Amino acid sequence: MYDVVISGAGPSGSHCAKILAEAGYRVALIEKNTNWRKPCGGSVSSRVIKLYPEMKKLNTPKIVGAKLYSAEYHLLEYNRADNLYSTVVDRLEFDNLIRNVAIDAGAELFDRNFSFDFISKEGNFIGIKTKSNEGVKEFFGKILILADGMGSRLAIKSGLRSKWKVEDITIAKAAIFEGENKLDEKYIRVYFQHYKGYAWIFPMGEQQFNIGCGTSASGNLKHNVNELFNEFLKEPKIKELIPDLNCKVIWSGAYPLPANGVLVNSLFANNLMLIGDTAGFVSPINGEGIYQSIFSAGAAAEVAIEALELQDYSITILRKYKKHPNVKQIIRNFKAKLAARDFFSEDQGKNLNEMFERAEKDKVYRDKVLGMFFSKD
Ligand SMILES: Cc1cc2nc3c(=O)[nH]c(=O)nc-3n(C[C@H](O)[C@H](O)[C@H](O)COP(=O)(O)OP(=O)(O)OC[C@H]3O[C@@H](n4cnc5c(N)ncnc54)[C@H](O)[C@@H]3O)c2cc1C
Repeated sequence: MYDVVISGAGPSGSHCAKILAEAGYRVALIEKNTNWRKPCGGSVSSRVIKLYPEMKKLNTPKIVGAKLYSAEYHLLEYNRADNLYSTVVDRLEFDNLIRNVAIDAGAELFDRNFSFDFISKEGNFIGIKTKSNEGVKEFFGKILILADGMGSRLAIKSGLRSKWKVEDITIAKAAIFEGENKLDEKYIRVYFQHYKGYAWIFPMGEQQFNIGCGTSASGNLKHNVNELFNEFLKEPKIKELIPDLNCKVIWSGAYPLPANGVLVNSLFANNLMLIGDTAGFVSPINGEGIYQSIFSAGAAAEVAIEALELQDYSITILRKYKKHPNVKQIIRNFKAKLAARDFFSEDQGKNLNEMFERAEKDKVYRDKVLGMFFSKD
């Protein structure tokens, strides 16, 4: 019997496992495939770098600002005023680094195990069943944590949430390129679009960069993300930055992400918590979800530790997860961002365009607009 069984060893599952293992608890971390590179822009907040000094080994760029563009290419530029920096990672390397930190802390990783069902007793979930090369395995735990992302089957089986509707998600494509470019390696670039969605160019160092785009909500029904991606590459302003359209594509993939904020009514049940993408911890405005997933994982781990100390795994204790200050702050922040997204994308991005145009000339106004996109670390 494990103290905690975690399904999914992405950033949220691995971080949760690390904290629990460091506190001396027995943790099973179940992962379907550690060789999977999740389709992602790979932009990682300084908040995560603070938690994982091991990331220095990855030798990724130091990003000290962002250039945000409206659909008409008005620019809102952000430069950090502190000494911190964010970065851009290759998700395969990053996910494996965080997993290995969890394993070093004592978590037991079960790779090539696909979680497909719960083990239930008297109406409670007491374990997770997986399929592996050795057949079906059963992992019993006092607490179960679902961190297996957007596609989590167990989240639906738990009854805590239903299948995603098309208007609740963003559909995004990302690709890693290598070749000559005129990108400033210190800035990430985000391009808000005429359609409900955005595109990005993130420098990765050594002539590599990540380009992607995504559509949200009603935009998913009107557009094809592959076509949008190809059109974005052909935009004259983008060709100025990346003149060589024959740049080598090292990798590409498409994947959905939650688009409407945290699923506040789906976070816990007796013996069970949902963290990261599984529970909607992704910013509705730009798809950033790595740090929020990791923070939700930290909050769930703290509550799990309290429950294990008290030997009470019921909702009486686990509901504290929803009330954790970090979770409350993310929920609040996403609600504001969701409202802003709808306003920005009205009239084919006209509102955002006007805001950025005015911000180009008026510094006081610009600082206010920047506050809508960037919060202090
Ligand atoms: C195209 C795209 C671009 C993005 N760009 C950014 C970005 O630049 N910056 C940012 O901060 N966020 C970005 N995000 C969001 C970010 O990827 C997620 O918020 C983050 O990965 C969430 O981490 P997680 O651990 O909750 O879930 P995931 O990273 O999805 O991890 C889930 C893990 O569970 C495993 N798993 C799934 N099903 C099972 C199963 N049945 N059994 C066992 N294991 C299973 C998976 O293999 C995976 O390892 C992007 C997302 C997409 C789709």
